[in-house]
Amino acid sequence: MGRRAISTKMVELPPPTLRLGLDHAALADNWRCLDHLSGNAKAGAAVKGNAYGLGVAHVLPTLIAAGARNFFVAHWSEVPDVIALADPGSVSVLHGPMNPADAAFARATGVKPVLNSLHQVALWLESGGGTCDVMIDSGINRLGISMQDIGNPSLQNLEIEVLMSHLASADEDSEFNAVQLERFRAAAQVIPAKMLSLANSAGIALGREYGFDLTRPGLALYGGVPRPELAGKIRQVARPEAAILQRRQIRTGDTVGYNAVFTAPHDMEVGVVSLGYADGFLRCWTGRGALACGGARLPLLGKVSMDMVVIDLSAAPHLREGDWVEVPYDLPKSSEISGLSQYELLTGLGQRFRR
Ligand SMILES: *Cc1c(COP(=O)(O)O)cnc(C)c1O
Repeated sequence: MGRRAISTKMVELPPPTLRLGLDHAALADNWRCLDHLSGNAKAGAAVKGNAYGLGVAHVLPTLIAAGARNFFVAHWSEVPDVIALADPGSVSVLHGPMNPADAAFARATGVKPVLNSLHQVALWLESGGGTCDVMIDSGINRLGISMQDIGNPSLQNLEIEVLMSHLASADEDSEFNAVQLERFRAAAQVIPAKMLSLANSAGIALGREYGFDLTRPGLALYGGVPRPELAGKIRQVARPEAAILQRRQIRTGDTVGYNAVFTAPHDMEVGVVSLGYADGFLRCWTGRGALACGGARLPLLGKVSMDMVVIDLSAAPHLREGDWVEVPYDLPKSSEISGLSQYELLTGLGQRFRR
């Protein structure tokens, strides 16, 4: 009992050294753009994974104001944060019910389970049933009712709002897209539902026949560009920034960071920045990336540490301790540089960013 516990309720938290800017106008524009590209279909929004890492509490009000009315999460644990802001009836839980407790939770909260197997169908009906969604597996072999089972009579006893399937290769010009489209049409012929939904972000760009009644964009809402048709239409949403913790001078021949992989070719002014792999800025950036300030490029020196990176300040010698620098997050470009997918770049952004 040596130290006295201090309640953080009594003392205000000092300012952070990591912040994640959200361009709400770009987010709303992206949703409207995807809604428009969806043709006669209405665009929903995938907000799973804390809205792809950006913070569901920040993202949802903007999407609702823009006009989104259908939201998709993966886990039951994601429901409370979403229904704090959105009508429970607008929320679909993609993983579906694993047990009676999940089904009871869905009925109590009023969110829709997405039923992914005949087992989940039986579980839902035994729990008392009610409005639900159904996922058909048209070839991705992940979640969903198999094509062999689409004629199962139990499916006729459901009150299905959205009958959906998910494309495996919508980000490629693959013949598999048309195969899945045909299979989904076949399933829709025999399973009654109020609405049909097939396309994710990339699927929207495949053309109007992929739209049906409802689309389910995620990545592109948040600035991702999964297909070239969307380039120039989708705007960057996430703008991470990190503060400089310390400036230092290093001399010719000095090395920087773990394993001394960078050696200074001349005397340099460097900045130690509060950003590391614990924040989702992974080791794969080592030796490739740069942070930025205005137009100035500030190359990374040495390995990415857990909580820090070191940058060359030559292009912005005015920068001081406490100043903010930008983390480049144009998703297609950053994906190319880092080798991470655009999805991983977003969902990896850590908890230490103030959102
Ligand atoms: C994640 C997900 C989406 C959104 O996909 P994006 O590629 O991010 O647009 C749509 N539907 C389902 C079933 C998903 O799991």
